[in-house]
This record gives sequence, structure tokens and C-alpha cells, in this order.
Amino acid sequence: MTPRAERIAALETTPFDVVVVGGGITGAATARDAASRGLRAALLERDDWASGTSSRSSKLIHGGLRYLASGQVHLVFESLAERNRLTALAPHLVEPAEFLFSAYRGRGVSPLLLKLGLTLYDFLALGRSARHRTLSREALLARERLLDSPDLLSGALYADARTDDARLTLENVLDAAALGAVAVSRIEVRGLRKDSSGRIRGVAARDEESGRLFNVSALAVVNATGPWGDRLRGQDQPEAPPQLRLSRGAHITVTASRLPVKQPVASPSSDGRLLFAIPFGSVTLLGTTDRDFAGSPDDVAADREDVELLLKAANAVFPSASLASSDIVATFAGLRPLLAETGKNVQDTSREDSVTISPSGLVTVSGGKLTTHRRMGERAMDRAAVVLRRHGREVTRSATRTRPFPGAPEKPLPVFLSEFGRAAKVLGLDAEAARHLGLRYGRRAEEVLALVAEERALGDRLSPGLPDIAAEIVFAARSEDARSIADLLARRTHLFWQASGQGAEALPRAAALAARELHWDKAGEKAAVEAYLSEVAKSRPF
Ligand code: FAD
Repeated sequence: MTPRAERIAALETTPFDVVVVGGGITGAATARDAASRGLRAALLERDDWASGTSSRSSKLIHGGLRYLASGQVHLVFESLAERNRLTALAPHLVEPAEFLFSAYRGRGVSPLLLKLGLTLYDFLALGRSARHRTLSREALLARERLLDSPDLLSGALYADARTDDARLTLENVLDAAALGAVAVSRIEVRGLRKDSSGRIRGVAARDEESGRLFNVSALAVVNATGPWGDRLRGQDQPEAPPQLRLSRGAHITVTASRLPVKQPVASPSSDGRLLFAIPFGSVTLLGTTDRDFAGSPDDVAADREDVELLLKAANAVFPSASLASSDIVATFAGLRPLLAETGKNVQDTSREDSVTISPSGLVTVSGGKLTTHRRMGERAMDRAAVVLRRHGREVTRSATRTRPFPGAPEKPLPVFLSEFGRAAKVLGLDAEAARHLGLRYGRRAEEVLALVAEERALGDRLSPGLPDIAAEIVFAARSEDARSIADLLARRTHLFWQASGQGAEALPRAAALAARELHWDKAGEKAAVEAYLSEVAKSRPF
């Protein structure tokens, strides 16, 4: 990415075809799609990339087995097609995984329904992943002893995939920029600019770092602000009813040694939701809750009740673990931007997306899933094309169906990882750190390694027991648009969720490296550390 000041200058002087507001996965995918069609696109995010819902998901790229139960067959079909596409286009980021499903006497689906559901799931995946297998109680326990409980009947093994949600978002942003889009974080859109006939012709924006106000002109504006979507719609059409129903989903991470699941597990919990337990480096991720949320989207965090619900659900599924709040490393919560449907409870509300155009031309894309982000971006731009054609701008087809993500290795992943491992060893990195870099950055890991070659101390680990190295902080600040310590420790690396003390041990080194790269003085460094510690405090409601 070019320096931020140059990008802001480009925002002020370029007549854009489209401005996309919101740098979560939906906005990033929309800007990538627009740029892939040769359009002049800008992407504006008021905080960090993926700082909203898109770093707070369950990190699954999945069909969504439970959506079959609510009859959302089309959504499952599309999600499975996108899952298969993403494993090919971003193999370093979207990792196929076998999931264990457990069936119980008196809760969740019966073994027969499970069998039917998984057969349909395989059918909808068009044979592009391993078929499910039914497991007897004994076979299930042989795979995961922690599932032992008196009500356990049997289980199954089925295929899905996992990802790093914040990085998937970031790679969309980086690719949009590589295709010519001007993508700038810490720019808040404050209002819509209209011409004398009431048509939208751009946005009024504020640089959150300098406080400066400026305008960005564009033929079309896409509102991809997720849970904030009704705010921008409200500025365009103050009389329009809200379109969204927000549902808060919380997760906790617990030390892996306290819940050492060997592979992802999906289990019905007593409140009817699926509890996912997912190995995530040094921790196990447990989630999620699904509760109506009526507050401000600016202010969302897991609360004590979320923590109690999740511990109770986890202890019902893994009774021998006896998890307690002292086992929790971190909590996080996000808002599902669901489309409001009357008469439905929040769990049955559709996860489909929608794209609307207002009379003044504001295109709003909302709802959906991480998994279907590429299709959402494509659909949003197909609709924005209607506005662009009114201005005489020709719009070609999206190129994202077959375009690999920036980190996608040119060779098969195992070959790339083994060659990269050899190169990393020469520079003193062990096999665990090398594999970690290869999977996190794909072929961009070579750029991280180049930093270690220049300055050997950057090969040091940041936190005991975790494979993250100091060079990643430098790389994130120089090449991945990180601007704060939370950007570095929560979204570019995951020490916030994984390290004991949520990155406290890494903090002095990370802050010093960030200060060097981002030209913070001592006061700036101190303020950045304090801001990070306050985010940590907010994530500990227990
Ligand atoms: P967001 O990621 O929230 O992005 C909106 C962005 O807009 C924010 O970054 C915000 O800062 C920015 N913004 C707002 N107002 C302005 C403004 N005025 N100017 C500039 N920027 C602005 N999906 C899956 O496929 N798999 C899963 O495992 C999964 N798990 C989930 C678990 C939970 C608990 C939740 C809540 C959701 C989950 N989802 C999952 C769904 C998925 O995470 C969301 O659908 C997706 O992240 C929404 O992305 P978004 O870009 O629409 O919204």
C-alpha cells in the first residue's frame, strides 16, 4: 500500500466511480470486486480493517449445517460453493477441517435426522469435499474422549473449513488496493453528498487521525457498514424504517490445556444452539451466543451473562473439563447484521444477504456471512452497475471468481510450506514458527522472512509458547496498514485472544517496534499502550 497521506490525497482529487463505506469483509469484498472490473474504487473504514464484526466471528467457512433445519437450502448451497472456491483461491487462509458432531438423548437432532441432514449437506457440496461418516458412541469417544457424557448417543464426522476472519478481510483489502482501489482506514463517512436533483454524488468524510474534514466524489456509493447499516440509510432516507435486526454473538477462548479438543467439535447445547469448540493455536475457541441487541453498535462486548451461558453450555458438552471463568483467556462479541423479519426469533432469522438501492442511488448491502463475502461483493457491484450505467459508465463482469488471493502460493500448499520451512531454517527459525508464518501469510511470508534476514533479532518470538515473531509487528505496520497496538495484537496477530495476559508479555517489545515504524514519540507510545490495556479490560467481564 502507498503511504497513507498519498492515499488521502487521492481520495480528495480522484473522481471515483464508486465509494464503498465500511472495511469489514463485505465492504472489502465489494471494493475488490469493483476494482476487478476496472472501476475507480475507494474503500473507507472508520477504524481498523475488520475491527467490527469481521474479526469477531466463529472463523468458519462453512455451509452452515443448522441452516438446513430452518429450510435455508439455497444459502447452504451457495455457502458450500463459496467454501470450495475459497479453499482453492486462498489455500493458506481457508483450511479444510473435519468436524465432529455429537448427538444426544433428549436434546438437539436425533441420529436419524443428523444422518439425513449430513447426506443433504454432502449432496449440496456436489462431492467437492469428503463425505460424512456416522460414528457410534464408542467411535466418537475414541476420537474425542472429552465428549463423554451420560446422554451422548452417537455422532458423525463431516467436512467444513476454518479461517482467520480478520486476515481474510485484510487480504480482500490488499487485493483491492493491488487492483487500483484507494483503501484508507481511520476515515469516517459523516454524510452523503447529493446533487441538485437529489442523486448521491459522493460522501463527506473525516480523517480520524488528524480530524480533518474533506469530500470524496463518486458516481455511486455502497453502504457496507454491517451493523451500522441503518445509520447511513437513515441519513439518506430519514423516514425509512430500520432494515436490520442486530444479534449479539459472544465467544470465549480458554487455555487449550484445559480443553484440549483435537479437532473442531459442533454440539447441540441445552438452549438449542450449536456450541462450537475449535482448536485455535494455544487456546480453544468456544461460541457462540445469539441474543437480540438493542444498544449502540459502537458499544458491543461480551457480558457476564454471555460468559455464564458459554461456560454452562461447554460444561454440558465436555463435563469432565469443569471449565470455570479462571480458565478464560479472552472474550469477544460481535453483532450479526441480520435482516429484520417479523414474527421470527433471532436464531431463526435468515442469514441471507440483501442488496437494495434507494431512490437517490445509495446501494446498501447487508446481512450475509463471512463465507459468502465474495458473492455479496459481486451482487453489490452488479446492483451498483445500474447506477453507474445511468451515468454512462460501462461495467464489465467481476473477475473474483477465479482470482487467487494475494498470499495464495503458486505451488501446492504442502510444497510451498516445506520449501519455505527450509528457507526459514537458514535464518534460525524453527519448524513451528516457519509453518505458522507460511499459513498466516502464504507467499507473503517471504517478505516477513526478508525482514528477519535484514535484522536477525526480528526472528525472536513475541510471547512464550506462541509462534508469532517480532518481524510480524514490523511487517504489519509497514505493509499491512496497522496503526494501533490492538491492530497489531488482535487482528494482524492473535496475541489478544491467545496469549496468557492477552499479550502483556509481548506488549513492551511490540509497542517499541510499532513506535519505531509509525514514528510515535514517547507520549504517543504510552498512549497507545494505555489504549490497548483499556481494550483488554473491556474484554474481561468476569
Ligand atoms: P462489519 O465487519 O461489522 O463491518 C462494517 C464496518 O463498517 C465496520 O468495520 C465499521 O467500523 C465500519 N463503519 C461503520 N460506519 C462507518 C462509517 N460511517 N464510515 C466508515 N466506516 C464505517 N459468518 C461465517 O461465514 N462464518 C462464521 O463462523 C461466522 N460466525 C459468526 C459469529 C458471530 C458471533 C457473528 C456476530 C457473526 C458470524 N458470522 C459468521 C457472520 C459474519 O461474521 C458477518 O456476516 C460479517 O463479518 C459481517 O461483515 P460486514 O462487513 O457486513 O460488517
